[in-house]
Amino acid sequence: MDDGKIKFIADVMLGRTARWLRLFGYDTIYNPDVEDFDILFTALIEGRILLTRDVQLARTGGSVTYLVRANNLWKQLQEITNHFSILPEISLQICPVCNGKISPAEKVKIQDSVPRYTYLTHQKFWRCEKCGKIYWKGSHLQLAREDIISHILKRDSDNEN
Ligand SMILES: [Zn+2]
Repeated sequence: MDDGKIKFIADVMLGRTARWLRLFGYDTIYNPDVEDFDILFTALIEGRILLTRDVQLARTGGSVTYLVRANNLWKQLQEITNHFSILPEISLQICPVCNGKISPAEKVKIQDSVPRYTYLTHQKFWRCEKCGKIYWKGSHLQLAREDIISHILKRDSDNEN
């Protein structure tokens, strides 16, 4: 079960960042309704890194926490992928919506769940085992890829802070 990959839990301020980490294939819990103490508790129990913008929480949590310094989404993703050596690539392993596992789905079985045009023009589909959402390498993922390239991977040639 455990593939040895780092697992995260994100604090209330890092919702969008959490979705992107899932897109990169990293199990990342995010629940904005949970108290700081419970987030930290889950991090400890489940062996997750707590990503937080809260200096106090980072201090309390010590070594299981990582204090995210950047303010905006793209800078945060640059910071986190750098720090944890994460490849910022869409992996279709973790559902960005619910953090469930995504696995390949048989095409015939998802026929009624995707638009007809999509069904006819794509061969490979994936389904979230938890929420049932269906994925294919279509326009959404293409746009996400473009975001990654323009916002995250530009860091080598981008020296502004
Ligand atoms: Zn899902």
